Amino acid sequence: MIPRRPTRQVTVGDERVGRILIGGGKNGTAPAPVSVQSMTTCYTHEVDTCVAEINRLAAAGADIVRVAVPGKNDTQALKQIIPQVRVPIVADVHFHFGRALEAVEAGVHKIRLNPGNISDRKQVEEVIAACKSANGGRGIPIRVGVNEGSIVERKDKQKRLKELGGVFSDNKHGHFLAIMITKLEEYLDIFYDNDFYDITISAKSPDPSLVIAAYTEISKRFDHPLHLGVTHAGPRETAMIRSCVPLGHLLASGIGDTVRISYASDPVFEVEDALEMLYVLGLRERKGVDLIACPTCGRIQVDLFTLVQDVRKKLADQITLPIKVAVMGCIVNGPGEAEGADVAIFAGNQRGIIYVQGEKVANVPEAEILERLMAECVKFENKVKAGQAKLGEKVVQIAPPDPIGELGSGFDKIASGQVDAAPGHTGLTIGKTN
Ligand code: SF4
Repeated sequence: MIPRRPTRQVTVGDERVGRILIGGGKNGTAPAPVSVQSMTTCYTHEVDTCVAEINRLAAAGADIVRVAVPGKNDTQALKQIIPQVRVPIVADVHFHFGRALEAVEAGVHKIRLNPGNISDRKQVEEVIAACKSANGGRGIPIRVGVNEGSIVERKDKQKRLKELGGVFSDNKHGHFLAIMITKLEEYLDIFYDNDFYDITISAKSPDPSLVIAAYTEISKRFDHPLHLGVTHAGPRETAMIRSCVPLGHLLASGIGDTVRISYASDPVFEVEDALEMLYVLGLRERKGVDLIACPTCGRIQVDLFTLVQDVRKKLADQITLPIKVAVMGCIVNGPGEAEGADVAIFAGNQRGIIYVQGEKVANVPEAEILERLMAECVKFENKVKAGQAKLGEKVVQIAPPDPIGELGSGFDKIASGQVDAAPGHTGLTIGKTN
């Protein structure tokens, strides 16, 4: 388990939608699991559409959903939206502090403020007062988001900027870091002066190295939970790497308490990919199957790409437990991966051998692999649910198949370079999968 940076803890939500804890480790709290957030893409005032999108994100695994409230009709819509959803809602407020007051009045569970466009002390204090007395007096938290694009340099902070400029003189992002820390210190003073500590902080940028530098510096100076994100990251195809590299780096260093991945794509992907990132880092307990598969190579003798995609979709539909499933192309790495998996197939010459916890259960032609593999996964899940099997438990050690080849492609053939594409094998279908 990755040790986590201790923070204060905040709670988002209520009894009806559920309470999501963010951060922890200070003041007698235990660190909460890293939560996953996303944001709707529809107009909030289109109530039915907004409810449907929130529910879709929640069904995908989002712990918290944020909505934009640029207009009064949006904050008014929250009164109808919130009773229809079962996930805490954050109001994303820019420019108009009145929207924050209206959202609180409508029963929202958290407010996001941007110091770059709501900086008037009196206005911020009004929002703080409203958040303090919301939720039956228990209060609701505020996220302070100092995104790169929204930071405004203030003339009256030149002295502090100069100081921090010296601190960060060796950092290629030094100027931005100095502005950001100055801005945060200035802004958070308003909250502290009003005895308000129910705060999370974000400092997003599209530049991954700046994201790492910013969150690292913030984590040294403030003990509030950190909301991680790479903003304006682009479409999923490129934004996945742009996001997961810096966020994974921070999370692996113990920094980060809640995550929002931002894609110019369906936000359900934001949730799925954030969860997968947390699963592989061991920061969340996996829900659903852990699927591994080989990338294939010149030894492949089945259409593995199509098989893997079919298996992935069927597993997502049919299996709920975190069963580890391996789909491997041949006996070079197949037996090794199959040993570590609950259910595994490794292929040979248009055939596949299927194992369940190390025990060989079938040797089937290529056309039957998918159906049989799924049947074994369902059977295994039922056994686990009935207490007759345990995830991750090996029954026997896998012995590779007979080299003469019950798969038609044993070690001898692979070692001697005699593996040819099987007669009639249609080859890979790169580009055909979806
Ligand atoms: Fe190639 Fe076999 Fe490894 Fe797959 S398991 S990548 S087919 S050597």
